[in-house]
Amino acid sequence: GPQKSAIIIPDEPPVLPLESLSYPAHYAPYISNVVIPYGLVLDRIERMAEEISQDLQASCDPEEGLHAICVLKGGFKFFTDLTDRMQSKNCCHKSLKISSHFIRAKSYQNDQSTGSVSIMKLYDLEVLANKTVLVVEDIVDTGHTLSKLIEHLHQYKPKTIKVASLLLKRTPLHNGLFPDYVGFSVPNMFIVGYALDYNENFRDLKHICQISDEGKKKFAN
Ligand code: 5GP
Repeated sequence: GPQKSAIIIPDEPPVLPLESLSYPAHYAPYISNVVIPYGLVLDRIERMAEEISQDLQASCDPEEGLHAICVLKGGFKFFTDLTDRMQSKNCCHKSLKISSHFIRAKSYQNDQSTGSVSIMKLYDLEVLANKTVLVVEDIVDTGHTLSKLIEHLHQYKPKTIKVASLLLKRTPLHNGLFPDYVGFSVPNMFIVGYALDYNENFRDLKHICQISDEGKKKFAN
């Protein structure tokens, strides 16, 4: 499937010291390694936007367009960067209308999944009936959040649900539900940055990074 084109970040990612890149100084002691620099994140999203637009332009009703769902909070940067680029990938004088929707999912405490996923409906989603829906997620780890989300969205009876996740973690705990589009396959490690948080910290860091032990202590709940 399309996730074959995901960029694989190896288990021992190359060492990219933070000092070699620009970053918010308030995080200096709390980051141990840059796993995916912001520039590479954007390059990959550019290509994902091409792939997804091509696939969905064919299947979307032009009047109804695509209904993109931003999964808060971790997905907000990927959501904007992806949908902005999808709009500029229109070909053959066709254009894809994109409507934005927001939903909140929460399961993590510190760097551990709590096992129970809560879905918060922020706005009415009845409009999704019979529409082509694209769920935009930051990271899929065990897949439990994604399963819950899809189960939740089915009640609105959309025509199709596609899923794009920037990151897919390689974990033995995965439940078998894979996104249709994946940006990067990442090692089984806890990462932050580009809107991914550790107890609400690091969302304002552009690079995707590993936290230092000092960082885990400093921001622990
Ligand atoms: P899952 O339900 O697939 O195990 O986990 C998915 C959710 O857990 C993601 O939407 C994200 O909020 C959080 N998560 C999983 N792995 C990581 C990680 O490495 N870093 C951060 N910041 N959040 C993660």
